Amino acid sequence: MLQLIRRADGTTRADLAALTGLARSTISQRLGQLQAQGLLRELDGGESTGGRPPSMLEFNDDAGVVLAADLGATHSRLAVTNLGGTVLAEDRGDIEIAAGPEPVLDWADERFHLMLRSLDRGDDSVRGIGIGVPGPVEHATGRPRNPPIMPGWDGYPIPERFADRYGVPVLVDNDVNIMGLGELWTNWRSVDHLLFVKVGTGIGCGVLMDGRIHRGADGAAGDIGHIRVAAGDEAEQVPCSCGNVGCLEALAGGGAMARRLRAEGLDAPDARTVVDLARAGEPAAVSLVRESGRLIGEVLAASVNLYNPSVLVVGGDVAQAHEQLLAGIREVVYQRSLPLATRHLRVVRSQLADRAGVIGAAAMVTEDVLSPAAIDAAIAASPPGSAVAAG
Ligand SMILES: [Zn+2]
Repeated sequence: MLQLIRRADGTTRADLAALTGLARSTISQRLGQLQAQGLLRELDGGESTGGRPPSMLEFNDDAGVVLAADLGATHSRLAVTNLGGTVLAEDRGDIEIAAGPEPVLDWADERFHLMLRSLDRGDDSVRGIGIGVPGPVEHATGRPRNPPIMPGWDGYPIPERFADRYGVPVLVDNDVNIMGLGELWTNWRSVDHLLFVKVGTGIGCGVLMDGRIHRGADGAAGDIGHIRVAAGDEAEQVPCSCGNVGCLEALAGGGAMARRLRAEGLDAPDARTVVDLARAGEPAAVSLVRESGRLIGEVLAASVNLYNPSVLVVGGDVAQAHEQLLAGIREVVYQRSLPLATRHLRVVRSQLADRAGVIGAAAMVTEDVLSPAAIDAAIAASPPGSAVAAG
């Protein structure tokens, strides 16, 4: 019933009765329980056909807040959102993930505390915490698993770091997964199947199927950066950080582009300078970005055949920097994927840009803490009679 009200499908008792087939008395009892949890607002009015207008039911997005963190390799973003995903406060900082879990999580914890204070909210208003990290995560335990660019984080119990103070669910996931969820939740609510590709220093893909993150058996689904691409004999021998040769990331990631620009005598220490050079219209950088787009398109064309998404969203610093990346991807995907798989496919740039991660982290948490199972558990745990008192 809460899901119907949140989606605004059912906004009156009569709507809910028609949609669920439940008796009015059952609906009233259930609404009383949700009101006792502070999750509903009841407004007078609505469209009347004579007589007393029916009261309108609305989800109370201010019934609590979510703390969201998108921890990146060199910079991180934090947010406090309400239960509707609206950002109430934001913060960001340049902090090296390689400094290890203690300093990074201490920093996040302190900033969360300051943001809550600035909003005049207590720790008890926090309903859940969502954290994205740049590496593979065992979602069930919130522990990173052999993350290549996160020394000291392997197996670290991130949720336990926040459990004492807040006593709420702490969900951790790979950053690309939550970015995809953020896009789906914000801009593509009517879409069930979406792929989100992040092109930054590295390359990764979030796979969203049936509106949910597809993590795979070990949390490694979507790791397209280490798929080998056909790019000619020489390129296929380029070593990758994973130990293999000829991986997509080693040829088309921002780091790889920087290396190739340096080989041409340009001053390009990292992916960020590739972005700057492309933006400035440096021809070598622009054509390299296009070429990377085509290589990424090769792997995405296969992914489109495999998953048949409705939307392919391209994000990350390099995607935001220059339209040539998207152009290269589109060129190959539409040419190489099956016509049936591309008939309704849209290939678009991320609209949330660098906020996709925190918005997705918050969405991951609200979907969990407002799930029917979680709400039932909260109602069962509340003292008897409280529902009647508030109803
Ligand atoms: Zn690799």
